[in-house]
Amino acid sequence: MTRSYSPRIGVLALQGAFQEHVAALKKCGACPVEIRTAKHLQGLNGLVLPGGESTVMAKLLIEGDLLEPLQTLCTSGIRVMGTCAGMILLASEISGHRLQPHLGLVDISVRRNAFGRQINSFATLLPVCGLNQPEKTVDQEQTFVKAVFIRAPVIERAGPAVSILATINNAPVAVRQGNILALSFHPELTEELSFHRWLCNI
Ligand code: GLN
Repeated sequence: MTRSYSPRIGVLALQGAFQEHVAALKKCGACPVEIRTAKHLQGLNGLVLPGGESTVMAKLLIEGDLLEPLQTLCTSGIRVMGTCAGMILLASEISGHRLQPHLGLVDISVRRNAFGRQINSFATLLPVCGLNQPEKTVDQEQTFVKAVFIRAPVIERAGPAVSILATINNAPVAVRQGNILALSFHPELTEELSFHRWLCNI
């Protein structure tokens, strides 16, 4: 069967685990576009903000004059997914690092490195509710997804517009606000494709 529509999905490619997202998107039949400058933001149907080091990414976003163009793109209605450091970039507040530049698009307060250091990294099968359902649905269908946590953030506060899709020890680790999905973990380091499929809307 041939796919008639191949969405163009941007992947912020300044630093971090962007190649793995590119590979996952190709497996979904999407056309990934590596973003290094604002001119790469044209004509995108979706966007990934990958994991890595949020302080370094923020610095490179400012140096490359990308912060505002990315904010404009993310509020244009396309689907957006931030993973780990990408979630930190999306948050409205970074606990203990209030001056760290960020996009501030999801009404959450995040704490960086909340699960400990690199050596405390872990993989788990995470129950996720309502990824492909309208927001705030009462009876949410649950699926189990493979998730890798590496110096991952947790969400300490989520505003009323935010749907919580998954938690660990009662702390949210996957949330959605409108068209924006923020994950504490790395689905792209497993063969899990459900979040990338959501992003591609296929
Ligand atoms: N701890 C990193 C940060 O604060 C995020 C780690 C990751 O993306 N795997 O940016």
